[in-house]
Amino acid sequence: MARDPKYDILFEPIQFGPKTMKNRFYQVPHCNGAGSERPGTQAAFRGTKAEGGWGGICTEACSIDYEADTAPSVLASLWDEGDIINLRHLCDSLHKWDALAGVELWHMGSAVANLDTRTAPSSPTQSTSDWSIGTYSHEPDEAEIIELQEMYVESAKRAVQCGFDIVYVYGSHGVLPVQFLSRFYNKRTDKYGGSFENRARFWLETIEKVKEAVGHECAIAVRISVDQIMGPEGVQAEDDGIGFIELATRRGLVDLWDVNVSTFSEWGEDAGPSRFYKANHQAPFTRHVKSVAKVPVINVGRFTSPDDMVHVINSGQADIIGGARPSISDPFLPKKVEEGRLEDIRECIGCNICVSRWERGAPLVCTQNPVANEEYRRGWHPEEFDQVEDAGSVLVVGAGPAGSECARVLGRRGYDVHLVEAEAEIGGHVRDVMRYPGMAEWSRITSYRQAQLDKLGNVEVHTNARLDAEAVLTYGADKVVLCTGSRWAADGFSHITMAGIPGIDAAAPHFATPDQVMAGKDIGERVVILDADGYFTGVSMAEMLADQGKQVSIVTQFADAAPLMEYTLEAPNLHRMMHEKGIAQYGGTWVEECEPGNVVKVRLFNLSRDGYKRTVEPRPGEPVRKAGSETTTIDADSVILVTARLSNNALYRSLWERRERWAEEEIAGIYQAGDCYAPRLTGDAIFDGHRIAREFESKNPQRPLPYRRERMIWGRDEEPLAAN
Ligand code: SF4
Repeated sequence: MARDPKYDILFEPIQFGPKTMKNRFYQVPHCNGAGSERPGTQAAFRGTKAEGGWGGICTEACSIDYEADTAPSVLASLWDEGDIINLRHLCDSLHKWDALAGVELWHMGSAVANLDTRTAPSSPTQSTSDWSIGTYSHEPDEAEIIELQEMYVESAKRAVQCGFDIVYVYGSHGVLPVQFLSRFYNKRTDKYGGSFENRARFWLETIEKVKEAVGHECAIAVRISVDQIMGPEGVQAEDDGIGFIELATRRGLVDLWDVNVSTFSEWGEDAGPSRFYKANHQAPFTRHVKSVAKVPVINVGRFTSPDDMVHVINSGQADIIGGARPSISDPFLPKKVEEGRLEDIRECIGCNICVSRWERGAPLVCTQNPVANEEYRRGWHPEEFDQVEDAGSVLVVGAGPAGSECARVLGRRGYDVHLVEAEAEIGGHVRDVMRYPGMAEWSRITSYRQAQLDKLGNVEVHTNARLDAEAVLTYGADKVVLCTGSRWAADGFSHITMAGIPGIDAAAPHFATPDQVMAGKDIGERVVILDADGYFTGVSMAEMLADQGKQVSIVTQFADAAPLMEYTLEAPNLHRMMHEKGIAQYGGTWVEECEPGNVVKVRLFNLSRDGYKRTVEPRPGEPVRKAGSETTTIDADSVILVTARLSNNALYRSLWERRERWAEEEIAGIYQAGDCYAPRLTGDAIFDGHRIAREFESKNPQRPLPYRRERMIWGRDEEPLAAN
């Protein structure tokens, strides 16, 4: 199909500085964990987006000098010839598809940790980092400020050697230039501090020097948090934010404004999780920029709908649609709009698992797009699948995230697939999750896969069909993949004690698993949630029940509820929400027993109650510390069990017991994917279903094939090779 003319504006070219971009789809800078160190991954990941139609594509933040690193998390760098070679490969991969290549020159001032380079960072005023524990910055004098600006200029020159088209002097998210601009961070009394003009001086001079050095070849872009969402202490849109844009505009320094909000310590205000922020949530702060900027303006806002994008441009909010997460979730989003295939867009769900992996020092993954960051090392393409000649038939049991993804990929590869689901609809646990407070966008996991399965003539979906082992064996499939999911432990089992909690039984009225809560089990007024899981389920139960007027407490062994949400950027607003809704928490605490009755007595113990000194003379059978015994009892009408998930693997075990029948029934293999093999994050379950389908002809698809690793091989300088 041709594209709908109402989307034509998204495909109009636009000029900024010496460059013209072919359309209005622009991947703003975002991390993927490849940096300059994994050039294959970097180029293939972003090159795929160029192939998918994004007109401009940027690196992640790119360090200008040894003075700024974020180890163990990986950023790009432009420090030396090696970086030039590696990032040139990225530029070539983008130019191949007529996309512009952008680089975000970065120094994070006092906030960098420099755990790798061990260099003291500079910042306008000496302070400890508000992001990295134990880091103090150096306060540069005016001569050292000029050296800092030279670092930007020299790295910009190296960017030109790579072939970059757009060079950023990056100032969003509380990095060095905006630390100078901010009256909160900048307490200087020289010409770089005090008045607004003085605080703006460092950034303006730096842009000017970079423009003078490379502006004839590259467009000069500035990424600015026009409002730091700190109130009057920080940069505000109506004050220094717009004021800085006016100053730079008067001097004609900037070719392209890339506008967002937030500081790094709370950058979930920018990369807003869908739990708290919907698409275009930044507009109240960013929409005023176009009235003062005389050059094109980019806005972000997790735009996945082309109608929203058209509205942003036609309403005068921005000229270019910036996307980080939408481009990760679907690198081919522009092409799908162009080809009139909107139903094929794999929309981002705003979960921020992509962010969480980088924050934990690991390469990016995506819940919706299992191919993200696998383009190079596994050789996968998000829209192309190896076809199998004489593909046989496959029975996939269970249509949750892993099963529906597995069936989709097997179908795309040419297999004759039957996807059989016990419930009335596909979706598995996501059908519950999307009803948790603020998590409606998780329904996109299922709706995307439903739409894709509907298109595949060689995939049949059968619902309301529960298969036992005999039914699987006699189904007539050549191979079987079980994707039967997981369930919450009914007895309070967790890794803390590796046992159930005495007195707990989810079959009794006063106890409930999250599945039972969502199925409508009666919940009393005083609710205690036992959360050893640490992600969204416990706090979602808490919010949902608090919204029903119940008195809710969370007991967790972690210091705080839901520590994984620190990495997904949800934690700050999560804790505000819990405070506002009166949800109490007992951190560093677990449960010795629950005494059932009309009121459940929940006996809590502090995880640090044992003595801190070890015994001097160890004896077999005796504790090595003075054993603590104190407990605190709280009363509950209902106890919710978010203690551990367990694989639903009874069907597999039953089939394994009958394994001599597999050959008799001409079944070549029975495998497990997703939670039924091991419970995991939804994105990892989808990945598992995808991977097994990609590698279905391998000797044992249950085991992942080796992948290509990018690392230095001692004594060799050739490109790294696959491990097998
Ligand atoms: Fe979107 Fe989640 Fe994928 Fe990130 S991980 S791009 S937030 S779907």
